[in-house]
Amino acid sequence: MTNSNRRNFIKSVSGVSLAAAMGMGISLRAGAAVKAKIVVVGGGYGGVIAAKYLKMAEPGLEVVLIEQNKRYVSCPLSNEVLAGLGNIEHLTFGYEGLARRGITVVHDTVEAIDPQARKVMISGGKSFDYDRVIVSPGVDFKWGAIKGYDEEASQTIPHAWKAGPQTTLLANQIKDMKDGGVVIITVPDNPFRCPPGPYERAALIAHYLKQNKPRSKIILLDAKDKFSKQGLFLQGWTQHYGDIISESSKEKYGSMIEWVPASKGGEIDAINAATRTAMSVVGKEFKADVLNVIPPQHAGKIAHTTGLVNPKGWCPVDFKTFESTMHKNVHVIGDACVGGAMPKSGYAANSQAKVAVAAIIASLRGVDPDEPAYLNACYSLITPEHGISVTAIYQVKDGQLVEVPNSGGVSPIDVSPAFRKIEVAHAKSWLKNITTEMFG
Ligand SMILES: Cc1cc2nc3c(=O)[nH]c(=O)nc-3n(C[C@H](O)[C@H](O)[C@H](O)COP(=O)(O)OP(=O)(O)OC[C@H]3O[C@@H](n4cnc5c(N)ncnc54)[C@H](O)[C@@H]3O)c2cc1C
Repeated sequence: MTNSNRRNFIKSVSGVSLAAAMGMGISLRAGAAVKAKIVVVGGGYGGVIAAKYLKMAEPGLEVVLIEQNKRYVSCPLSNEVLAGLGNIEHLTFGYEGLARRGITVVHDTVEAIDPQARKVMISGGKSFDYDRVIVSPGVDFKWGAIKGYDEEASQTIPHAWKAGPQTTLLANQIKDMKDGGVVIITVPDNPFRCPPGPYERAALIAHYLKQNKPRSKIILLDAKDKFSKQGLFLQGWTQHYGDIISESSKEKYGSMIEWVPASKGGEIDAINAATRTAMSVVGKEFKADVLNVIPPQHAGKIAHTTGLVNPKGWCPVDFKTFESTMHKNVHVIGDACVGGAMPKSGYAANSQAKVAVAAIIASLRGVDPDEPAYLNACYSLITPEHGISVTAIYQVKDGQLVEVPNSGGVSPIDVSPAFRKIEVAHAKSWLKNITTEMFG
């Protein structure tokens, strides 16, 4: 399928399926108004959209959104901050727009959810009753899975995998690094938040170093042997960072990015924070000037304390409703859930939120939910003028969430620089659209 055919196909299919997913399907329009109390836990890419679409679809619902932070910092496009191409303020959003829509926004930490009593407890002992609760807490890190890397170590060895102060810390370390320094990024095994993110990060840090510290190197130590959009990343890295030559002396520094897969000793199981050294499972040691550890992940803590997780630490759900298979009337969306073929992305969380909302309202009305379809697109930047993407539509088949064959794919490998530039514009307009939909 050509790229333009692919995009037209996505447009036509998503036009139909998203109408249903957004709560505009026949069952929602036809039903009588319902009243219920819905609590949403977590105000990120999944939770904010769930709260907003619940209220839009049924103004009579009592919707409470509980989020621990006063402001939300978007991970998408936060890798740009590391390259000095954007700043964190432009990725930071407040919840005032949701309050204006009649959603009760509570800034506090959810300490417990009692699925039997249907109560959500926040710090200080206050609780909220619910008819349904939607849980979208994102990921937490498996501290200790890499020996020597815990929350305290992350204060000097950033993960920058939750955007905010961690992003700024890593950006400053890169800025302060000497020319000729080594940046090491360690990448976990699947599944983890934003599968193409580490590779985009390497490219954008390289973009900064090429301009400012061209003798420097970036090493990706990977717990896997293959990764998302691999062919496109390898091509882009070679094209832009494969043959670094000093502008003044014309000295050749060679390739800036080195990717070490698991089969070549890239999987690490320990770090020494004091010496900024990463140790691989086969006993190799890699010394860094800047060490960025992206730790293994699992569902956010509240999913664990509520008993929503499987042995791997993710929340299994019914893919037609996103209701937990562990507890009734509890829906889990976003990074925390077992997402089938869908990656853990902001776009996926957005799509899942709309399906969960449509299913909840259908069930409150006592009708069957529409057959859901899901959409995802993930853009990555290799330079400020070179973008790549992967897109797909997903459907439920035999109880599994699977990709619709030929519904998407990755950007073509052989295209003009103008095409790559357009993908950058798509990435930026995607962020503007999705965050306006959330917070506008
Ligand atoms: C570097 C990077 C780049 C990325 N780029 C992209 C991209 O280009 N496109 C894309 O689609 N995705 C991208 N992602 C992935 C995207 O950020 C996540 O998939 C998305 O944020 C998941 O949404 P969520 O609602 O599950 O979790 P989040 O957005 O993390 O929201 C969870 C919220 O819950 C709150 N919370 C958690 N526990 C509690 C509690 N107990 N009480 C109260 N509040 C709580 C948290 O404070 C947080 O605000 C990227 C990620 C990274 C790290």
